[in-house]
Amino acid sequence: MNLSHPTPFDRLEASQTVEPTSHETGSGISRRQFMKTASASGAVIGSVMTAGAVATAPGQAPAAPETQQSAPAPPERQAANLDIPEPVEKKMGWAIVGLGKLAVEEILPAFGECSGSRVVALVSGHPDKAGRLAEVYGVAPDRIYNYGNFDTLADADDIDAVYIVLPNSMHAEYTIRALKAGKHVLCEKPMAANLEECAQMSAAAEATGRKLMIAYRLHYEPLNRKVMQMCEAKKLGKLKLFVSSNCQNVESPNIRLSAKLAGGPVGDVGVYSINAARYVIGEEPVEVYATEHRPDNDPRFTEVPESVSYTMKYPSGVLAQCVCSFGTAGSQRYEVIGEKGVIVMDPAFPYRGLKLTVRRQGADEGPPEIADINLRQINHFASEMDHFSKCIKDNITPRTTAAMGTADMRIVHAITESARTGKPVSLV
Ligand code: NAD
Repeated sequence: MNLSHPTPFDRLEASQTVEPTSHETGSGISRRQFMKTASASGAVIGSVMTAGAVATAPGQAPAAPETQQSAPAPPERQAANLDIPEPVEKKMGWAIVGLGKLAVEEILPAFGECSGSRVVALVSGHPDKAGRLAEVYGVAPDRIYNYGNFDTLADADDIDAVYIVLPNSMHAEYTIRALKAGKHVLCEKPMAANLEECAQMSAAAEATGRKLMIAYRLHYEPLNRKVMQMCEAKKLGKLKLFVSSNCQNVESPNIRLSAKLAGGPVGDVGVYSINAARYVIGEEPVEVYATEHRPDNDPRFTEVPESVSYTMKYPSGVLAQCVCSFGTAGSQRYEVIGEKGVIVMDPAFPYRGLKLTVRRQGADEGPPEIADINLRQINHFASEMDHFSKCIKDNITPRTTAAMGTADMRIVHAITESARTGKPVSLV
């Protein structure tokens, strides 16, 4: 139900802002501080508009002074908020490494919706496919690379950022090689195959002075950001429970079914619930307990489990109960249960069509107030890549850091360990 009349609940009314939360950054930047800054800049814009001269095109009569009544849309005036995109040469240049399903179907098309990023290079072991895609996206033939000549990316000044979209077992090697080639790197989730690789990747970023961001696209998506803000502002009172599933049916052959390529449901899809639990709860778990199922009659699951169920305990007492699977119909959701209300994001994790509902206890034991929060749906990959381009341009730290990727891998590792041993694993 969409609420059309004003209620106290309207305070939850969605803004389209995607400012960082302190849950994510630990920076302590609050929404109130952000709004203060935003309204301060609004005041500046307002004063410029009332005091400034009116622009006219050559040969046109000067516009009427500000004090006179003006027409509703004078032809000589520009819209006040014209959003003129960056010239092409000022956009950051990207190389996409690994032209599989995600790169071809989501990332490359997303450049059409980017304002600060453009694709200038492709890296692939399949020259025919790379050549066809280069033609479609206007990539020059001498900017098609393969895994043999990958290190010569260093010689291409027009490549600022390298996006690693390879199987998980290859993330560390190609991230480190790209950093050593002097490039900033956006690496797909999960960050790597294990914690040792995470440490090597972080050390390489440190040593080269280049930025390393992990591709947690939901941090750049308005509805998930709204949930982060609501939880940080304690709109549901004290949080008690987080319940999540991220399940799909994976057809063979698939990199996700290979242990050698670091596949498996926890790192691939479970990591969304692990990451969401952090941006909702704002804490690291102190203990995990997991159990898994490997059917003996399904050849897809000889190397990785079909389903894993895991519970995470947090210092404040919140319990997170999550499941992930490669053998079910799609279920990609989370529910945040607090003292005074419930947030349901269903679906929460796909590329489009997310849906957020908030149910809060009514006043004086009245019926619960229910609201669907509708925000503009955006292209997650365009938003994420433009964020990284801005970080490079303005030399700022990305929201989704290597430290966040490493923290998630620590939990993935603990879940795998618990499922293997049948015992809880402490994370303190
Ligand atoms: P995919 O199998 O479709 O693509 C993998 C690519 O790697 C292919 O182009 C393949 O040719 C190439 N490759 C190079 N060397 C390989 C080797 N030795 N073995 C197998 N493939 C090799 O996979 P995908 O779905 O595009 O996933 C790629 C990465 O993106 C994974 O890390 C995955 O976790 C991540 N991903 C993220 C999201 C997201 O929403 N952020 C969604 C899907 C996948």
